[in-house]
Amino acid sequence: MTYNQSCNLSCDFCYVNFHHKKIQDKTYEIIKKAILLNFDVITFGGGDAFSKKSFRNSCILAKENNLFTQVDTNGIAIRLNDHDFIDKYVDLIGISLDSIGEEYNEFRKSKKLFTKVNSVLKTLDKNNINTKLKINTILTKQNKNAIYDIYNYLKSFNSIERWSIYQFFPLSAAKRKRETFEISNEGFDETLFFLNDEKPNFKIEKFKFSDRVSGYIFCDEEGILYTNSLEGNYIVICSIFDTEAEKKLLNLHELINPKTENRYS
Ligand code: SF4
Repeated sequence: MTYNQSCNLSCDFCYVNFHHKKIQDKTYEIIKKAILLNFDVITFGGGDAFSKKSFRNSCILAKENNLFTQVDTNGIAIRLNDHDFIDKYVDLIGISLDSIGEEYNEFRKSKKLFTKVNSVLKTLDKNNINTKLKINTILTKQNKNAIYDIYNYLKSFNSIERWSIYQFFPLSAAKRKRETFEISNEGFDETLFFLNDEKPNFKIEKFKFSDRVSGYIFCDEEGILYTNSLEGNYIVICSIFDTEAEKKLLNLHELINPKTENRYS
């Protein structure tokens, strides 16, 4: 489930084509339909689900119907009283972090971003919540020198379960900034080489662009299901509300990315 209408940040390396049109947000109905279709995992993504009105109730509905709930967020709109909500209704929270301190603010063009993320992480860590905590890092040519600092910073927390590092995706909107951000496969491996000898308390996942780009199915907040090709183009499948949706999804089985199919089971 990805919010494609807008985001509270405007990162230059972002691959989401936000359309900023007036739409009817059908997230709650989409979750109802996903329950009927026997989905077992739902990921809320698209920048910051916490900034969307439809998110909290939809996440509660998913959790109360036994879906595994994952939320990927930049952390900006997480409120102090969301910590209980996260503990109760979010199985896995993924928080973005691509650099440390002022450099992170510059990387994502947001003045107090690092202070906010730092405070969210510290609170989640201190509260010893049931929710699994994961950090998502986009590795690009611009922030490759920050990886060592991020690693040292993450080691200061007890409850981080997983650090997922993604090679910059020159997909869709991000194609425009390809020259600025693209990092080669060799550059990606070299930057992360030092991690091979490290034994932190958390799991480290490294995703090259080619490992990850195909085999994902997204649903926008209007219910349109789509995937993307290796060339970075979106391919519309159908609406989740179509009577044929289940059949079409079952036929896509061979496209599901094997790296992700059983990732959290
Ligand atoms: S990278 Fe994430 S936080 Fe940044 S604009 Fe895109 S969706 Fe929003």
